[in-house]
Amino acid sequence: LTTAARALRDNPPMTHSFTEPPKKRLGQHFLHERGIISKIVQAVDPQPGDRLVEIGPGQGAITFPLLERHGELTVIEFDRDLIAPLIEAAQSHGVLHIIHSDVLQVDFTALADGGTIRLVGNLPYNLSSPILFHALDHAAVVRDMHFMLQKEVVDRMAAGPGSKVYGRLGVMLQAYCRVTPLFDVAPGAFNPPPKVDSAVVRLVPRPASEIAVEDRAMFSRVVRDAFGQRRKTLRNALSNICDADAIAAGGLDPTLRAEQVPVDGFVALANALARAA
Ligand code: SAM
Repeated sequence: LTTAARALRDNPPMTHSFTEPPKKRLGQHFLHERGIISKIVQAVDPQPGDRLVEIGPGQGAITFPLLERHGELTVIEFDRDLIAPLIEAAQSHGVLHIIHSDVLQVDFTALADGGTIRLVGNLPYNLSSPILFHALDHAAVVRDMHFMLQKEVVDRMAAGPGSKVYGRLGVMLQAYCRVTPLFDVAPGAFNPPPKVDSAVVRLVPRPASEIAVEDRAMFSRVVRDAFGQRRKTLRNALSNICDADAIAAGGLDPTLRAEQVPVDGFVALANALARAA
């Protein structure tokens, strides 16, 4: 609990309820469909001892069912208008630890406190990529993630070579995580309904022994440049980093385009370039 949240819990000024209208700028689309909520809880399947952390609890659609099931939960919410009602509503459900903050400022490693955390969230869609990359930065302490995202983003995350939506996001995530799309969710499950379809995805960070990337910065640079100009051949797209001989020495045909190269191919090339640097 932050100091402000603790003060509110100890001295609730009056009865709070979730009366504020949803805020567009915070990506607030509150889930109301019970069937979807229970599918999310089943997918997470909390086990005794798990440290669950929910990003953006909102009005508690996923929070309270998880709390009922697990007894304890940490939530990170940016909207101060939601903090007091969350504290109040939580009292009858279990132990809710509330962090009133921008999730991008939260140090997951500190939160894990020597153990691991499991992340859950119906994410604000305008921040989904920064949140995913923030979680990846702390992948060593993140056991898994279950996120609701725009379906189009989940498709990109899980795509492989040959798919029209295979790109930087998929390559970056798949190098570090196993990505499993679980189920789609229609706009009518939310209030207000978003303009797009949604989907729930499971991400499981690979153990250190399974991650083949040797130099994260080089890997990010190669993937960014390769897909920055996806219609160009690797030799042209990567000309600021290396020449055609270096691409061939890294195991790839320099006349391929990025969308034809599997994740392992990018990893091998970036490793070879990093070693040669
Ligand atoms: N979990 C709730 C549900 O499923 O109904 C709310 C989901 S809503 C799509 C996203 C939530 O993330 C909102 O409660 C919003 O206030 C919160 N949020 C937006 N930006 C945030 C940020 N930077 N850090 C933490 N929470 C944020």
